[in-house]
Amino acid sequence: MTHIRAEGLEEPQTSTFFENVCDKSSYDLGNFTNKILSDNEKRQILDMGPLQPSGPFPTDINQNNRCFSKSYYVSCSKYGPVNRFWLCYSKILDAAYCQPCWLFASQRNNVWCTGIRDWKHLSERIKQHSCSSGHSEACAVYEFWKKNDTNIINKELENEIRKEASFWKMVLQRLFDIILTLAKSSLALRGHQEDLSQEGYHGNFLSFVELVARYDHILRQVLDMPKGSTRLLSATIQNEMIESLGTILETHLLEQIRASPFFAIIMDTTQDISKVDQLSLVVRYAVITRSENGQPIDIEVKEVFLGFYAAIKHGAVDLVNQVTTLFIDKNIDLKKMCGARL
Ligand SMILES: [Zn+2]
Repeated sequence: MTHIRAEGLEEPQTSTFFENVCDKSSYDLGNFTNKILSDNEKRQILDMGPLQPSGPFPTDINQNNRCFSKSYYVSCSKYGPVNRFWLCYSKILDAAYCQPCWLFASQRNNVWCTGIRDWKHLSERIKQHSCSSGHSEACAVYEFWKKNDTNIINKELENEIRKEASFWKMVLQRLFDIILTLAKSSLALRGHQEDLSQEGYHGNFLSFVELVARYDHILRQVLDMPKGSTRLLSATIQNEMIESLGTILETHLLEQIRASPFFAIIMDTTQDISKVDQLSLVVRYAVITRSENGQPIDIEVKEVFLGFYAAIKHGAVDLVNQVTTLFIDKNIDLKKMCGARL
């Protein structure tokens, strides 16, 4: 790895450093190696926004000529591309890093604070980091600083924000686990009466929450919160969590289908309760496991339900057109389709 240090920046004296230089690249992590940042410096770095240069990025001969890519700055969500505001690239270190963790993480011995150069596994490392507790806590403090335009931020308050972010992450882990358990058992979540202050049956989701809360102090704290507090138990939040899980599952299935050398589909339509024809789509494909040198060593045939889609028109040609459009939108190569049944 070659560290290209700008002349005169070996030992940055940041009190005068910012006054002299106002170029965004001056906020590069490499200018602050092993330096404890003052609140004033954190504020200036934060106000400058994430350092996301567009390249070109140097290739590393020790990593099969791999390099960083600006495509990492963006994640794909159901609603379109979303900028990873936290992900930065240091030209000086030729390394990616996380700005909120660099500025606000309580644990500093983390590659995301000092720079990461594992280009082969960077996608996976980004996913892991974005789900980590330390990152969530640092992002909560980062957001707090952004909303409060002052350098004087109480450290105790920062710790409170970290604790709160950590608490709600633990709450969400439990709620997602409950939803997954119910989904695996094909059980409905909702009940007719979901007011927990009233006696009676509150639906499977809230009944499970109440059961877990008998033995778990995290969910107990949530249930003990006064009525009207944010508790993440409403029907809207339940639906959002189901949708998030559905998006993750669909992304995983589509990755497998795209990687399969061929696939077949089974589709059918049925009316829902509001008399709308719903097109159901099942895909059958092969998952090939390969050895380290790329030789196929195992094959597994999978058949998955991809989803219901409201039928736009009802003729056979219309349904075929709808499915082909859907597959093109999902970036699936139609040339690999070897069979279809309606
Ligand atoms: Zn982070």
